[in-house]
Amino acid sequence: MTFLHQKYHSLTPYTPVEQVDEQTCIKLNTNESPYPPAPSVQTAAAHAAQHLNRYSDISAEAVAKPLAVYLGIDQDQLFLGNGSDEVLSYIFQGFTEKGVAFPDVTYGFYQVYSALYQVDATVVPLKEDFSIALTDYDSLEGTVIFANPNAPTGVYQEQKDICAFLERHPDRLVIVDEAYIDFGGSSMVSLIDQYQNLLVVGTFSKSRQLAGARLGFAVANKELIQDLNRLRFSLNPYNINSLTQAVGAAVLQEQGYVDEKIQATIQVREWSKQALTKLGFEQTDSLGNFLFARYPKISGEYLYQSLREQNIFVRWFDQPRTKEYLRITVGTKEQMERLMAALTAIIEEVNP
Ligand SMILES: *Cc1c(COP(=O)(O)O)cnc(C)c1O
Repeated sequence: MTFLHQKYHSLTPYTPVEQVDEQTCIKLNTNESPYPPAPSVQTAAAHAAQHLNRYSDISAEAVAKPLAVYLGIDQDQLFLGNGSDEVLSYIFQGFTEKGVAFPDVTYGFYQVYSALYQVDATVVPLKEDFSIALTDYDSLEGTVIFANPNAPTGVYQEQKDICAFLERHPDRLVIVDEAYIDFGGSSMVSLIDQYQNLLVVGTFSKSRQLAGARLGFAVANKELIQDLNRLRFSLNPYNINSLTQAVGAAVLQEQGYVDEKIQATIQVREWSKQALTKLGFEQTDSLGNFLFARYPKISGEYLYQSLREQNIFVRWFDQPRTKEYLRITVGTKEQMERLMAALTAIIEEVNP
């Protein structure tokens, strides 16, 4: 017997990756920052804890104000969510009446939310090189969503293609999920005044050391933001808790620290790409904080399992187009050196 509504019986939820003990393991499987938040961010959380008896600020001013300044937008063009996953959830719930289209290889939650909200979803194959052919979306209707740089491929889509699509389809909403934009490429945020049909999603999880705080955002014209707030106020107005508001505000005062860690990640990413190539891997030119690579003669599953046995956790997707690949989060230089040593040993063992 089940009490769950019939319409949810066929749901396949998102599979979060295994949590691992970082004392003994190297965790390269969820694209978090390998660096802790700046000390002042940690202190801000402790201070905010003194006021947990009170509800959080519904407008999250402490974050919204400096974030709007940082992004160069008005505060009424900004929406904050409990992680960008919550923002995406509202988008799929509220902005997909005529259906939604997204690439076959992209962020897993697009499919999950389509099923949850019973949205008519069209999955459009990426090109052979994993880039998005936006002209493939021309003949469809409704909303378009993709990540840029895309996940798990790291492939970056040039802005001019996106702008051309926005211009060809002024009556279709285009969502650009910029979870990884701080690691490469240029943001579309500055174009929201130009395109009324553009909505950009961002997060503090990947480049700002705050995955655990759950803080994401959307940027768009103020009518779209009002509509997102209409949904939010119908579900959970206090969606950003006060500890998260405090650390979000504090991290925006630490742009120097954040930028330094972004630069470190980019440097380690480029070093890692070269190291993988030297080992014989094939890979995309990822602009994210992760690599997407395969070894011609060894299956993705075997590599994933062998690394796991050595307590190195990467992501492997058991899907037709991606199952020969590993998605490897860029960790610290030391972690990546250990990864390369482990991969070298696995390859030698297979091809002595
Ligand atoms: C990680 C990720 C998200 C979710 O980020 P949160 O803000 O932590 O919910 C959204 N989109 C993409 C493409 C991601 O990789």
